[in-house]
This record gives sequence, C-alpha cells and structure tokens, in this order.
Amino acid sequence: MSRAYNFSAGPAAIPEPVLEQAQREMMEYRDAGASIVEISHRGPEFLEVARAAERDLRALIGIPDDYAVLFTAGGATTQQALMALNFAAPGQAADYVVTGHWGQVAIRQAAPYVDLRIAASSEAGGFRSIPARETWKLSPEAAYVHITASETIHGVEFRHVPDVGDVPLFADFSSSIASEPIEVRRYGMIYAGAQKNLGPVGIGVVIVRRDLLERDGQPRAHVFDYRRQLAAESMLNTPPTWNWYMLGLTVRWMLDEGGVEAFARRSEAKSKALYEAVDGSGGFYRNDVDPAVRSRMNVPFSLHDDALDQAFLDEAREAGLIGLKGHRVLGGMRASIYNAMPVEGAVALAAFMRDFQKRRG
Ligand code: PMP
Repeated sequence: MSRAYNFSAGPAAIPEPVLEQAQREMMEYRDAGASIVEISHRGPEFLEVARAAERDLRALIGIPDDYAVLFTAGGATTQQALMALNFAAPGQAADYVVTGHWGQVAIRQAAPYVDLRIAASSEAGGFRSIPARETWKLSPEAAYVHITASETIHGVEFRHVPDVGDVPLFADFSSSIASEPIEVRRYGMIYAGAQKNLGPVGIGVVIVRRDLLERDGQPRAHVFDYRRQLAAESMLNTPPTWNWYMLGLTVRWMLDEGGVEAFARRSEAKSKALYEAVDGSGGFYRNDVDPAVRSRMNVPFSLHDDALDQAFLDEAREAGLIGLKGHRVLGGMRASIYNAMPVEGAVALAAFMRDFQKRRG
C-alpha cells in the first residue's frame, strides 16, 4: 500500500516534506558525523535545533516575550498534573470546565493536589455543547480555570476565548494548537502534546505567562518544577531529542506553508467538506454536536446502522483513507484533520462517504 490519507487522531499524520527531510538527515545530521539522535543534547548541533524550534514556534503562534516556552518529555496528561503542583497552593481551589473526555482526564490528574471544582460541565447532555458562560460557577480564589480548547474525542471546540476575569485561564490545546491564530495573552497557560499538530508523540509544549512561574505551588521534585525546567532550557534531564527535532521541522514547515492563517483557511475548508457530507446524508451519517461548537480538527460521526461500520472502514482503507475508527469511548467513526492533512484528503473522504451511502443506503 502506498501512503494513504491518514485521519488518525494522534499519533497522527506528519507532513511528507518533514518525513523526507528527516529521512535525508537520518544517517548524518549536517556535519555532525552522526544522526541527531546519536549526539549529545548539550552539543552545539542539538542546542541549535532546540533553540530554533522555540524561535520558530514563537513566530508561528505569536508568543509574546513575557510568556515562557517549555518543551516537556511528558505529554498533555503529565502537564495536567504538573499545572496543579506548580500553580496551586496545597488545597487551593481550581476551576474546571468539562466539555468532553479530556476535561475529565484533566480532573483526575489534578484532583490529588487541589480543591477541585467543576465550574461547568456538558456531561449531562453527552458532551455535545459548551455550557453558556453565564452558567459557569467560578471561584475568585481559584488558582486557575481549566478548559479543553478542543475535545479530540467528542469533537467539541471553543470558538471564542471565554472571559474568566482575573483568574488565569489554562487551556489544553493538544488537538488544535497552530490550526488558527491564538490570542495567547488571554491565557495564563497553553499546553499541548505534539502528536497531532506539532509532530511526533513523545514531547509536549507548555506556553506560560512568566509571572505565574513565581508562584510557590506545592512541594515537588526538581524534575516536575517548571521554573527549574525553564532555567535549564527544558534540559534538566536528557530531553527527547528526536521528537524535539521532528517538532522543529514540523513548525518550520507550517511557517513555510503560510503560518496559522493559512491553516485556519484549510481547516475551515476541510471541516466544512466533512460536515456537509454528514449533514447532507439525510441521517445516514450523524454528528449531534451543537453546530456552533463543532470541532475543526476532529469530526466524529456515526453510521445510522453500526453493522455497517466494518464495511465502511474496510472500503475506506481500499480507497486509501485510513485511521477512521472512532475512539472506544464513542464508537463510530472519527476523521481527524490536523494541519498535515491536505484539503484534498478531506474532500476525498467526503466523496467516499457519499459513494458508500449510495451503495449501502
Ligand atoms: N488532551 C487532549 C485534548 C488530547 O487529545 C489528548 C490525547 N489524545 C490528551 C490530552 C492526552 O495527551 P497525552 O497522551 O499526550 O498525555
């Protein structure tokens, strides 16, 4: 099989020019005499890779100087625990707005360390919407308010930054980072695992307002301490050098492709093609998420008869469309359309969906 359109939710598709460059540089990175994964993280070659990745990420997202950037060996889940240890005093309140599975996971990571409060949740409605801001019960004494900017499984995405007053807003951008402009200044902390829009799994990114790093937080080992990690340029211990290098290549590719504005346009086109295929199917396909907050990154949908699921997946694969099986939490299908997915891939999937319906409907 040649390379297919890959709709995996993460680990996910990586841009082909990035894979090709990594392939070219695999045996020897520039003049290093070895590949990038075989040399010291403290040597000049890797330090330049690491610093360039930060410079390019700052340029891509528009990260102001009063925000620090950390590259973390743990993914998003790890940050969900570390944010409590670093930014909440022992037993301090922390507010969570839960709009899907990953918000629930975030709660479980922070619960041992904070007075965890659910400020709002759409669980009762099956996570198909975002509770109206007026209904949120926020605590003025909270260390932070946590939201999941884009829920990868439930396909729900914040389309506006909620105003939470003076308490810093912390957001899990794992699924949607760099897919459209972000107003970084509206957030205290933005974090993401890289394996969707930023490259390979095994590294994460934390973007945090520097003044928050002055908080005492809670007793924690050095390796869990963001302030110490920042002072050590995210190299308190051996960092995941390969992943960092791949992230750097991916960010560079996104800049070359026109930056986040270009990806916002593509995301709009891709998600529109898929939602039109679902909504125009007369109920053959379904997505019950409130249209105002449907995700541009992850399009979950079900077939009207789940007995057809396997045939859909098998025939999609035959047609060169892979990674469409939905998450076990929801079942059905899910098309993840991150930055590495070209518009043609989404258009091809939409055409396949119409064709499948014609034959099986
Ligand atoms: N948050 C979101 C929105 C996710 O999609 C995921 C992973 N799919 C996670 C958190 C967990 O990330 P990790 O596996 O990197 O810990």
